[in-house]
Amino acid sequence: CGIIGIVGSEPVADRLVDGLKRMEYRGYDSAGICTLHDGKLVRRRAKGKLSNLIDVLREDGAPGHVGIAHTRWATHGAPTAENAHPHATGEVAIVHNGIIENYKELRAELRQNGHSFESETDSEVVAHLISRRVENGESPTEAVRNVLPRLRGAFALAVAFRDHPEMLIGARLGSPLVLGYGLANETPEMYLGSDALALAPLTQQISYLEEGDWAVITREGAQIFDVDGTEVTREIRASGASA
Ligand code: GLU
Repeated sequence: CGIIGIVGSEPVADRLVDGLKRMEYRGYDSAGICTLHDGKLVRRRAKGKLSNLIDVLREDGAPGHVGIAHTRWATHGAPTAENAHPHATGEVAIVHNGIIENYKELRAELRQNGHSFESETDSEVVAHLISRRVENGESPTEAVRNVLPRLRGAFALAVAFRDHPEMLIGARLGSPLVLGYGLANETPEMYLGSDALALAPLTQQISYLEEGDWAVITREGAQIFDVDGTEVTREIRASGASA
């Protein structure tokens, strides 16, 4: 339902939760975050209110300067902590808004290839599809480029990679996703959000991804590709301006 991602220069857990708070008005049944820290994906999730996730974070923490977060409005699978996003393998973590219509075929194919699933969601297949390619030696960019054409339905996605802790990849088709260009203490940062409002405390400089676009973001900026994989530029504008 709501997505935020930060490639930051300072700890991100509090800022991710703050972004989720700003999207509470959209409604949700569970929430979660995943940060990159010390060569690991650190994942924290909770059913129900954001205050439950905040309790988990107070207990267990989520250190790191890069991370993704999600509020879920369940379409496939009950509203439980196991079905809350992010979904992850050892290699990648993803958050997803929308519906992957062909998830049953994809899950059957992945199961035949030895993948096992932790959730009942349609979304978890995306983590496995990308992970399989990364494990086979593809770069994050190649893996996402090759997986996106296999997804039917509607999605906004944010993807984090254990072995590439300085970047995130976002993609959209049928659900909105914006990029934000910001600074923290004079150091550049980049953001992803399903909602310009979620990024409002972080930056006013945003780009709207167009249908089928996907973007690789690092602290230094974004590389944006269209649905055909051609690199494109998207206008950077002030988020207060009318679209
Ligand atoms: N279809 C996904 C799920 O049920 C994502 C729902 C959402 O947009 O929050 O987990």
